[in-house]
Amino acid sequence: MGKLDVSMLRYLSQEDMRVLTAVEMGMKNHEIVPLSLVASIANLKHGGTHKLVKELSKHRLLAFEKSKMNAGYRLTNRGYDFLALKVLSQRDVLHSVGNQIGVGKESDIYIVAGEDQEQLALKIHRLGRTSFRQLKNKRDYHLKRNTTSWIYLSRLAATKEFAYMKALYARGFPVPKPIDCNRHLVVMELLQAYPLQQIHELNDVESVYTDLMNLILKLASHGLIHGDFNEFNLMLDENDHVTMIDFPQMLSTSHRNAKDYFDRDVKCVRDFFFRRFGFTGEDFPQFDRDVQKECSMDRDILASGFSKKEHDELEALESEFRHQIEDLSQDVDIIGEEENSGPEDADAGYEKEISPETDKCGKIEEFQSMEESTSRIQT
Ligand code: ADP
Ligand code: MG
Repeated sequence: MGKLDVSMLRYLSQEDMRVLTAVEMGMKNHEIVPLSLVASIANLKHGGTHKLVKELSKHRLLAFEKSKMNAGYRLTNRGYDFLALKVLSQRDVLHSVGNQIGVGKESDIYIVAGEDQEQLALKIHRLGRTSFRQLKNKRDYHLKRNTTSWIYLSRLAATKEFAYMKALYARGFPVPKPIDCNRHLVVMELLQAYPLQQIHELNDVESVYTDLMNLILKLASHGLIHGDFNEFNLMLDENDHVTMIDFPQMLSTSHRNAKDYFDRDVKCVRDFFFRRFGFTGEDFPQFDRDVQKECSMDRDILASGFSKKEHDELEALESEFRHQIEDLSQDVDIIGEEENSGPEDADAGYEKEISPETDKCGKIEEFQSMEESTSRIQT
């Protein structure tokens, strides 16, 4: 685990940002964005896009690619990180980036400092990263590469995670306090807690077990299922108080497989408590018998966090998203140990759509056409 090298960040000028944003926008419709298009979207007062693009490529924020058909630039992972980090630092949410504290399946977690030096957690979504390296070795890689938009999925995961975190926090659920979100980044409270997975002794095993079962039930009574309620996503503080994290896969109790997901969450906890503490909970909730829906946070979140258009997009993408994750985990199983055998570049992300900006309150700004967005970055 390392540091995120952000030394370059402060040297990024407004013009650099315009060029990076132009490539991001261009990637909405192009896998590789021709220089002429970058220049016309960036529309720099004094020109010079070529020079900036060269410099940004040297620092690996952009990558030049050439095929038989065309030549141009795409954003790298690093470029996408910088774009989002710069926005958060301009909003005074982020002041500096410190050590990495976690590597999840689909993310990197860093300690960061806010404006008043208070410590926060930064989650960088990197959807399909591990699997992507493995995919590279597969024959169907080129096929996948053209049909999958890694950057888009990472951004969707972050947007969704932030929307859920805010709604859950507002309802008093034990989740980290949400701070802000941009693109594939989520900033939240840094928990003084450890994943349950690292805990080998509890003062009162049964009471923690009961808290967890009650939490699963309370979520369901609000119309929600965590969907990945395991020992890595449950954080325990020194008083054995539980905070749950990691929400991109949350789903509604109206999902057609809701019962399976609910039962799996329950089983995860039960299995862990048996393995780790030799504890068998006599009492455990069952979806059909115990879930009584009191309100529909699932619908509220979609209604308040997203405009009608995004709502529909999200719902449509949701199943694609889930399939991708399922496909990918199958790939991982098949390919097994080959994780690091591919080239180091996990970057070939292509955005199909530029998804909407989330402002500080999580309201989605109106989706803008490319022309409108371009004029917005001119100011
Ligand atoms: P992933 O989706 O990749 O599994 P998680 O959100 O579960 O990512 O985070 C990965 C790990 O990072 C967690 O298991 C936990 O150890 C750590 N972590 C995540 N969020 C926080 C936080 N807010 N405070 C402290 N540690 C955190
Ligand atoms: Mg996790």
